[in-house]
Amino acid sequence: MTDPHQAMLDKICAHARETAILESAQQLLEWDERTYLPPEAGEYRAEQVAYLAGLIHQRHTDPRLGDWLAELAESPLAADPHSEAGCTIRQMRREYEKKTKLPESLVKELTRLSVRGQQVWVLARKNNDFAAFAPILTQTVSLKRQEADALGYEDCRYDALLDFYEPDEKTATIRRVLAALRDDLAPLVQAIADSGRTAPVSILERIYPVAAQEALGKEAAARIGFEFPRGRLDVTHHPFCTSLGPHDTRITTRYDERFFPSGFFSILHEAGHGVYDQGLPSEQFGLPPGRYVSLGIHESQSRMWENMVGRSRVFWEFLFPAAKQAFPDALDGVPLDQFYFAVNDVRPSLIRVEADEATYNLHIIIRFELEQDLLDDNLSVSDLPGAWSDKYRQYLGIEPPHDADGVLQDVHWSAGLMGYFPTYSLGNLYAAQLFRQADADLGGLEKKFARGEFLLLREWLRDKIHAHGQRYAAGELVERITGKPLDHKPLTDYLRDKLTPLYELA
Ligand code: ZN
Repeated sequence: MTDPHQAMLDKICAHARETAILESAQQLLEWDERTYLPPEAGEYRAEQVAYLAGLIHQRHTDPRLGDWLAELAESPLAADPHSEAGCTIRQMRREYEKKTKLPESLVKELTRLSVRGQQVWVLARKNNDFAAFAPILTQTVSLKRQEADALGYEDCRYDALLDFYEPDEKTATIRRVLAALRDDLAPLVQAIADSGRTAPVSILERIYPVAAQEALGKEAAARIGFEFPRGRLDVTHHPFCTSLGPHDTRITTRYDERFFPSGFFSILHEAGHGVYDQGLPSEQFGLPPGRYVSLGIHESQSRMWENMVGRSRVFWEFLFPAAKQAFPDALDGVPLDQFYFAVNDVRPSLIRVEADEATYNLHIIIRFELEQDLLDDNLSVSDLPGAWSDKYRQYLGIEPPHDADGVLQDVHWSAGLMGYFPTYSLGNLYAAQLFRQADADLGGLEKKFARGEFLLLREWLRDKIHAHGQRYAAGELVERITGKPLDHKPLTDYLRDKLTPLYELA
């Protein structure tokens, strides 16, 4: 006779796998919307997606599921939280409780405000009109406070919101690590600005035919271990990666014929996300042991391949001959060192999504500090543009000439995403910490990369991170692998080591 607990767990897993079928169908519709959907098909597509979203929500909040999970929570199957069964029960219970704690009226209001918010934001940004966006943002902040209060928290409201994206992480930890990072990075960025050295970026602004960009990007993605028989690369406006099944991972990019890095590094970044998804246990698709840990860990994979590998000198030692063949006119007579310097251009700039890897985190820290102040009522929405400018002057030494390139530049707040920004910096921090460990474990990666041997890093990541799904929380996982908790030092060391010779800093 089957153990009744096991029988109940089987029922839960079957329920979750069925939900995953609906979710992946919804994601396929969304992927299509962002790649191939004809312009006039949007309205019906929105109906399709909303219908599926309703069904999925019903399944997630199905009271039977709550009963089953409550019964198993104290069973021997849940005893080891890192086992397959223990992880499944813990994570599904957590998700169920979260979804059922929020009153339906609040969920509906948040969804409505996010749709309306994004429409208003697009116009406000276009017209450089913060006043038009301010009332929506005020309402958003108020609803996010209600949401945090409904979910509950120990220390601060921000914790409750952060938990959506970075489960088990605490605001206080991130605050401490990002403040230390800020104190290291601000003077480094200032020294670079004062160095008088500028990267020869004009090399990258020559003509790079799109077909050759696609071919080289695909080659690089395959080299780092993105499996094309289980994936695709397509074109979109805002690059993303999505997985529509255990063997169907789609990455996207955009090409700019007059700016090589735009397409190429987006491909490497998204391929890094894709390699993670492809490394998750496929037989656990739709169940917690087959899901990614957190946005920060996901971003650590993309940033590692994009920056620590893709912007390294040894990477280009390997790929530059192929790049010269792909772009014989643009790269005619260009030495490797000049090209390497050009792809590592560091300069304080106003726009987060265009920022280099050294200044990027300062953009995040500014947003992280401001959104805490908004939630805690230490800053009013009307004072936000002024506070934004002050922080840009203080941390980056520049000030936006107007709100469109300042406080209005990101979609996140208009879409109700608060507590999301720090996951980008967590990605960079984890990437540096993990990369340092991989380099030590694998006996030095530079010589191997120069020969085009990248798969050993992918295998290391699969073994240490991908294979575990959600068995360990992000911080726990990183500490298990590196022996240390989240730390800013590996990232500042990495940036200093790389940028000191390039900018001839003392
Ligand atoms: Zn990413």
